[in-house]
Amino acid sequence: MKCQTVIDMVERLAPKGLAEEWDNPGLLVGSPGQEVEKVLVCLDVSLPVVEYAIEQKADMIVAHHPLIFKGLRHVRTDLHDGRILRLLLSHDIAVYAAHTNLDIAAGGVNDVLAELVGLQETDSFVMTDCEKNASMGRIGYLPENKSLDEFVEQVKKGLGIKHLRLVRANDRPVRKVAVCSGSGAEFVAKAAFRGADVYLTGDVKYHDAQQAVQQNINLIDAGHFATEFPMVRALSVYLKKEAAELKKELCVIQDEMSRDFFEFV
Ligand SMILES: [Zn+2]
Repeated sequence: MKCQTVIDMVERLAPKGLAEEWDNPGLLVGSPGQEVEKVLVCLDVSLPVVEYAIEQKADMIVAHHPLIFKGLRHVRTDLHDGRILRLLLSHDIAVYAAHTNLDIAAGGVNDVLAELVGLQETDSFVMTDCEKNASMGRIGYLPENKSLDEFVEQVKKGLGIKHLRLVRANDRPVRKVAVCSGSGAEFVAKAAFRGADVYLTGDVKYHDAQQAVQQNINLIDAGHFATEFPMVRALSVYLKKEAAELKKELCVIQDEMSRDFFEFV
């Protein structure tokens, strides 16, 4: 199929118009008209991922994080980014990114995250476009009260991680939980204001933790990677299903090798 057909599939799930203004989603490398037989879904277009795409003869990479984000000042093939671009172009591999539009979309990164940690009756958290009822993050409920420690275990199990960072502000039972995948520490006060017992996100800094304690809301930093990576599998499943419905031949593979940069030692 054409690259554009894959783009249409992704955008049916995550319309580009949902993306934040500062973002850079869309087709970043390649041409909409090029033929695609095999797609690799990943979080980051890293060197190992590109090498894997070449080895697997993938024609297109669908990523969450945009490879080209802050503008391109040069294509220096002796440096990391230029090397990646050279490899992609020389192997005719297109790159498409669905970033904040996939975070916000129904069935996107935050819905996947909310479901994995056991939330139900999820609703919008931080509105980004009221007309489209679009929101960053989700707020939802556990089917029954849990202790904070029980909920922490549930998060670790759901996200497949052994460790996370917890800011324990109180020992109230946990029922209402706000989540924001990736990097959502700026919304601690918002989660407290919305009456969440716990706020789950990634990339939490010292003063965010301090704010959580001051606002009496428990805060979990499960990591940028762990809160987003599950989407790789979900998006792969979605693309396979869409291709099958269109009765089109498309081989979808996913990045199984990427790991969080952070280790607990
Ligand atoms: Zn991210």
